[in-house]
Amino acid sequence: MIPLDTPIPDIRRIQPLYQKRLLKLGVQTLRHLFYHFPHRYDDFSKITAIADLKLSEVATVQGKIMEIKNIRTWKKKMMLTEAYVQDATGVIKTIWFNQPYLINTLKRDSFVSLSGKVNIDKTLYLSNPAYEKIAANDEPQITTNTLRHTGRLVPVYPETAGLSSRYLRYFIQIFSPAISQFRDWLPLEIKKSQRLIDLKDALLKIHFPDSPESITRAKRRLAFDELFLIQLYVLRQKIKWQKNNSPKISFDEQLIKDFVTRLPFKLTDAQRRATWEILLDLNKNKPMNRLLEGDVGSGKTVVATIAALQIAKRGWQVALMAPTEILAGQHYKTMQNLLKALGLKITLLTGAKKEKEAAAKIAAGEIQITVGTHALIQKTIKFKNLALAIVDEQHRFGVEQRAALQNNVAQIEDGASATIPHLLSMTATPIPRTLALTIYGDLDISLLDELPKGRRKIITRIVTPTGRQAAYEFIRWQARQNRQVFVICPRIEPTQDSAALGQAVSEDRHSALAGRQDWREWPRTNGLPKRKENAWDDVKAVKEEYEKLSKKIFPELKIAMLHGKMKSKEKEQIMVDFKKGKADILVSTSVVEVGIDVPNATVMMIEGAERFGLAQLHQFRGRVGRGKHQSYCFLFADSSAKTTNARLRALITCQNGFELAEKDLAIRGPGEFYGSRQWGLPDLSMASLADLPLIKTVRQEAAKLLSKDAELKNYPLLNEKLKDFQTTIHLE
Ligand code: ADP
Ligand code: MG
Repeated sequence: MIPLDTPIPDIRRIQPLYQKRLLKLGVQTLRHLFYHFPHRYDDFSKITAIADLKLSEVATVQGKIMEIKNIRTWKKKMMLTEAYVQDATGVIKTIWFNQPYLINTLKRDSFVSLSGKVNIDKTLYLSNPAYEKIAANDEPQITTNTLRHTGRLVPVYPETAGLSSRYLRYFIQIFSPAISQFRDWLPLEIKKSQRLIDLKDALLKIHFPDSPESITRAKRRLAFDELFLIQLYVLRQKIKWQKNNSPKISFDEQLIKDFVTRLPFKLTDAQRRATWEILLDLNKNKPMNRLLEGDVGSGKTVVATIAALQIAKRGWQVALMAPTEILAGQHYKTMQNLLKALGLKITLLTGAKKEKEAAAKIAAGEIQITVGTHALIQKTIKFKNLALAIVDEQHRFGVEQRAALQNNVAQIEDGASATIPHLLSMTATPIPRTLALTIYGDLDISLLDELPKGRRKIITRIVTPTGRQAAYEFIRWQARQNRQVFVICPRIEPTQDSAALGQAVSEDRHSALAGRQDWREWPRTNGLPKRKENAWDDVKAVKEEYEKLSKKIFPELKIAMLHGKMKSKEKEQIMVDFKKGKADILVSTSVVEVGIDVPNATVMMIEGAERFGLAQLHQFRGRVGRGKHQSYCFLFADSSAKTTNARLRALITCQNGFELAEKDLAIRGPGEFYGSRQWGLPDLSMASLADLPLIKTVRQEAAKLLSKDAELKNYPLLNEKLKDFQTTIHLE
């Protein structure tokens, strides 16, 4: 028997051409072949006597070919293959389109099994059925076991050019005895308590199901496996992390109470909860690893400030790292403002100014709070006693950068325990709960799920082409009141204008694509390479819009532009100027800074809104409504298609980033596991990241197992499997 790990190119029974095609599908070994799962099934299991066939039903008939011939239709110049098939009860005509070669395999007098739809053209006939020969001449011994493409629940696989499901079914079937070599690595007690079927059985049934229920059972087992390994991995990461030590910063109730009462506003309940969770974490000698997740404007900065205050007042240092100078500057000002009465030394480090002096003070421990960009992780910066590292917009940094900030005071050696600062990450990117429990499963999460009271809803409108002029007049009026306006243009797609785009892809796919564009953010959350932007299309879109607005529409207003081709210094300068009110309108691509605070901006106008994902549109909208003025978001849509509008309408009714993220997820459907490739995760073809109950169950089982046997000493097979798994992924 061929060993499971035999590379496909070493399997002689597969022709080189097909070997290549299998590799193209990611099937590198025999083992992979069995893990190439169907994405659906055709139910051809009902075998019907020819006399009982009914119009429009999908049926399987089995009989002898009485006659078969090719006919060229004179009208359409199409080749028809016409056959007459007889069983004990009658005869049925069968037609195939453009498969003239069939007469070479399905010869007269052979016995065939045909599955397809019953149509009518004067008489009933089978239209383009799936077919297979059961026997050449003699009366056949028909058993469903020998059927491959008909007469059963027929698996349909992800295919590639020249490798259809027919071939995949064939390969999987001829090699199926090798399935007996799989060793079940899932602990018996889990299989029992979760009523999961055996691995071999699951692999057999996923390819050769005998009933819909057997598919369900197989899927559940295979889905469980996929999620179980992820859970074991993240939970072990967490355990490893907790082997380190961190300074225990005891909670000074009076200090915090005084600070909170002196704030110019009342903390929201969510802010209180998050603050409390953080202070409790700091009060332990185990390092905190917490993600503070809150929609734009939910007030994350003040929560971070309270944590910083507590640390600083206990004589330790804090570092806050932000992705851009402008954000760092913003945080610096905010913290200075909030903490000014408290006699703390705060400094800003952006690499822009001469910083030798600051570096010396940081090293001497004279500065308690250092706010900065990646300048914080230069070699020249050494903290004396860093106890808390805060990373804002954490997805903008790579894993190494975040680790570098944390390693500043001590060396973390793999496996060995060390003293490291607590880590607080912040993000405005909503993470659906299912993801929080899987990919982010090693973090503790504090959620700011509530906006400060008194925030006005941002009035959101979809603007059709006829409404454009009115929208411009509205903007002019706002500008006259000295308010400011953002205009976002999508990249110009190289091959098509927006109308063509709308037509070229079906609406469903269209929205799915728009959604996915946004979800490409996810991998970045894990510090992986940034999305490639086609900067030239960027520039073109912005320049055109800039020209149009400044020359034709608003010649009397000051207009600035911002795009991906600019140097970051230049971009920052433009943002700073805009913040200072030097321009009325800022025309930009999606590069407009996340987290930027321009309280005077009241209008967010988005061109080609249907091309952005919901979550991204929501982020754009979050750029306005940050001051005391009523703010507006105008969504200009090129396509008036229904589903586009339905999607955009979700933005009108929903102002909550989390709900929008869930909606976005729903639009893409459960089968789509965004980001899985980039993470190097195994294809989660079975597990759905929308299946919260399953995810919770799997997590519990994984935790239970690790609490009994952290090193998995008693589970050598599982341990081995997990090691394999770890080499393929890079979460974090
Ligand atoms: P984000 O979570 O997007 O980083 P910020 O921390 O920048 O939000 O806060 C947004 C604005 O809301 C700031 O101007 C901040 O002063 C203000 N703010 C924060 N918390 C409250 C609150 N509880 N009540 C009123 N305003 C608040
Ligand atoms: Mg922020």
